[in-house]
Amino acid sequence: AIKVCMNALCGAASTSGEWKKGWPMRSGDLASLCDKCGCAYEQSIFCEVFHAKESGWRECNSCDKRLHCGCIASRFMMELLENGGVTCISCAKKSGLISMNVS
Ligand SMILES: [Zn+2]
Ligand SMILES: [Zn+2]
Ligand SMILES: [Zn+2]
Repeated sequence: AIKVCMNALCGAASTSGEWKKGWPMRSGDLASLCDKCGCAYEQSIFCEVFHAKESGWRECNSCDKRLHCGCIASRFMMELLENGGVTCISCAKKSGLISMNVS
């Protein structure tokens, strides 16, 4: 069967080759990404590479890392704060926030 890269901006289709796992989807499966997109996702730069010109970018309250809010590819790389701010996942872990908001 032919597979299509889940990155809407890429859309590479192939029956073979390297496929990488991306973000978790509603079905419980992981998105399948072509090698190029999968590498970007693994390095946590997927949104920087593909969505740089999209809206929704905010900065981590603690370290100023740029975060693409509302994007499924970044869904698990940030936590929303109760004060309306946002924090990256590494700062959230450091501050112990991460266990608060599992769902
Ligand atoms: Zn791709
Ligand atoms: Zn994004
Ligand atoms: Zn941070």
